[in-house]
Amino acid sequence: MAPALVDYSPSAEQTYRFCQKKAYFGWLTRKKQGWRKPEKHPWRRAHELKQLKHRAAWAGDLYHQLVAHALRAAQAGRPIDQATLRELARQLSTAQFAFSASGAYRGATKSKVADYCGLPTFLALFDHAYGLPTDSLLEATQDRLDRWLANTFAWDGWPTLLRQVRRASAAHIEPEGLVYTLAGARLRARLDVGIEPGDGTFHFYDWKCYGDPERSAASGRGVRRQLLAYALWPVLRSVRPLALDRVTATVFNPVSGEEETVRFDDAGHAAFELEVGRWADLQPQLFSAITEVHFDDLQGPYDPARSCPHCPFKAVCGEEIAWHELT
Ligand code: SF4
Repeated sequence: MAPALVDYSPSAEQTYRFCQKKAYFGWLTRKKQGWRKPEKHPWRRAHELKQLKHRAAWAGDLYHQLVAHALRAAQAGRPIDQATLRELARQLSTAQFAFSASGAYRGATKSKVADYCGLPTFLALFDHAYGLPTDSLLEATQDRLDRWLANTFAWDGWPTLLRQVRRASAAHIEPEGLVYTLAGARLRARLDVGIEPGDGTFHFYDWKCYGDPERSAASGRGVRRQLLAYALWPVLRSVRPLALDRVTATVFNPVSGEEETVRFDDAGHAAFELEVGRWADLQPQLFSAITEVHFDDLQGPYDPARSCPHCPFKAVCGEEIAWHELT
């Protein structure tokens, strides 16, 4: 029998390289249904901590949610104008912030939390969970979001994209089900928007809300790998596969208002395939069963003094817990 496929995601691999303990918590919360455990059980606590968001990631998530909302509306023939979307951004961020501040995320099931205009209100902010000051956090996030949305509407590519989602033979907006296999691993193409005009090409968009241009540059190893993981979906899918040189990406940064066009080649594909294969071989040996993994033997980050204070898992990581004995 062929061995079971393991899941590969560029970010999971990055987390493992950064801190094995953090990767362990990620694995644990996928494997163990921590939310079914009593409040104080370490699995339940790890599950709740996994959901925490830093303020920068929250702003980025809001941006992605709002842009996807605007694109779905355009696709349905109900375009949203700039002022309406920016106002919605204020209202949604207010609703999410209030949800997080109330602590209602504890014990909540994300999918069952009420939405606001069809957008999620679930939020668990790192700052709220760890009792940090949040004065002006909401207002600062709203101002950032407002600028980013204004930059998006001012971007040359925005009207083109609105036209594409309406007219393309297929437009994938934050799709969930684009799955393919490569080198013994299963990958999900969680792209922001994918456009198939119907002429044998595939074009996708990725939003990068980093203030640091170096971080969001498509030449960076992490971004490059992530984009390639998306680009290979139309190439490796079983129906109407395309050649890789027919796939292009646009990376748009709403912080700077700049865009980059990215193309892919077979050499990049081959190197990525090797990397995914190595990960697929390694992963089953890393975290096999709860009883097999001795948490204290796992390596922490290179610089704990710098990294651990910002880590969502620090509350459970710093405690003496015999993780391998838990049931
Ligand atoms: S608190 Fe530090 S050691 Fe523990 S999981 Fe987080 S980054 Fe790793």
